[in-house]
Amino acid sequence: MPTPPPPLAGTTTGPAALRPLIDTVLTALHDGAHRRDGPLPAGGPDAVTPRMRTATHPVVPDHGTGPHEALRTLITALTEGAADPADPLCAAHLHTPPLALAAAADLAASALNPSMDSWDQAPAASALEADITAALAAEVYPGRPTPDALVTTGGTESNQLALLLARERNGPVQTICAANAHHSITRAAWLLGLPEPVVVPAPTGVMDLATLQEALTRSPRPLLVTATAGTTDTGRIDPLTDIADLCTAHGAELHIDAAYGGPLLFSPTHRHKIHGLDRADSVTLDLHKLGWQPASAGILAVPHRHHLDPLHHRASYLNAEDDTEAGLPDLLGRSLRTTRRPDTLKIAVTLRALGRSGIADLIDRTLAAAHHLADLITETPTLDLYDRPTISTVLFRPTDADDTTVATIRRTLLTRGHAVLGRAHTGNRLWLKATLLNPHTTPQDLHTLLDLVDRLTNDLAEGKTPR
Ligand SMILES: *Cc1c(COP(=O)(O)O)cnc(C)c1O
Repeated sequence: MPTPPPPLAGTTTGPAALRPLIDTVLTALHDGAHRRDGPLPAGGPDAVTPRMRTATHPVVPDHGTGPHEALRTLITALTEGAADPADPLCAAHLHTPPLALAAAADLAASALNPSMDSWDQAPAASALEADITAALAAEVYPGRPTPDALVTTGGTESNQLALLLARERNGPVQTICAANAHHSITRAAWLLGLPEPVVVPAPTGVMDLATLQEALTRSPRPLLVTATAGTTDTGRIDPLTDIADLCTAHGAELHIDAAYGGPLLFSPTHRHKIHGLDRADSVTLDLHKLGWQPASAGILAVPHRHHLDPLHHRASYLNAEDDTEAGLPDLLGRSLRTTRRPDTLKIAVTLRALGRSGIADLIDRTLAAAHHLADLITETPTLDLYDRPTISTVLFRPTDADDTTVATIRRTLLTRGHAVLGRAHTGNRLWLKATLLNPHTTPQDLHTLLDLVDRLTNDLAEGKTPR
């Protein structure tokens, strides 16, 4: 008797096949985290790479090891070697610790595998996506009759689409951004064959308005200004209403990259910081940052549904004209991708489970932790604080350390497996960057983090640690 092929994830039989496999996955996640016992594995690439390689090889064995062995071996090794954003000392990037409920919802997306490029691959998921994008668009553009939003892989794709849509509306736009803009803006202009962006300085971390005004006066039309709400280096927010006023006065369009800061919309306490967001012709927003979704959960919101018309596309096998006329939703034009995961499922589950107040609470806790970290740094005489945080990014450095020492501290914490901190060069110096996204972070965690930096700084100064 030949053995049957391995079970599938769907229909009524899939869940029973999945249950023991998921149990193995969960055990591997637990055991791997236990072995790591920290924010990232100790030993740097010299330790991590060979260990992972041992688990991985042979990549294609002649005879398979079976589902439980494969899941256990690879997932335990991957978890042991992970930089885990759920550990409070893993705080370098906008690398979110996903909510358990969002990860659980994503399992259903994998099991059912709806593909968002045609209605016949995603009947209910299409309806879900339409409602979730409409609701998120209405959060960004309250007051507009027909706002809309696309689901993207994140800020990079959202920014690309924003520049593309501006080009389709206006012709080859000259982008004006500030020195604090995300690198994906320049790349988007390059990808789309647009002129290289004019870069306005951001000496205080935000776009300089006087120079923006000059650039708006001088630059060849059509113009697109891109502002940032939550910069990568310092988490600052450009003066959105002033920028919107200048754009209106000069007949320029405005895109706001609120990949990081956009979700502050959900917090009555912090929403005022992104006042003016709805003045933009398009807004980038990532829910895989301050939204606690597993990657990816990007959004591009626009004030009018018809702004998305340029993306309309027909492929007779997916959205034949007669099918559309007969009433089948036409989804292909909601992305440049074809096969596309139902990323709104985890978002919908999260919004429903937590509600507006639950999301606001996560945001408020996270921002409070950042303020607490800033307080602790201010109280530590051996550390300098760059500035009070606007969102949840805190830059600091040991007083009197040179930039090489700051870089060494970051790298040593990484290779010892003690902490994951980022780095940012601003104000002519290198800073350690803590980007807090973990709502479970306690004052004790923050204390531990600063203590690690402080002790390492001392060891380096006394020559106890090889550079
Ligand atoms: C994270 C981020 C991006 C890039 O987003 P991805 O989701 O990584 O593609 C762009 N702009 C800003 C301001 C960001 O914070």
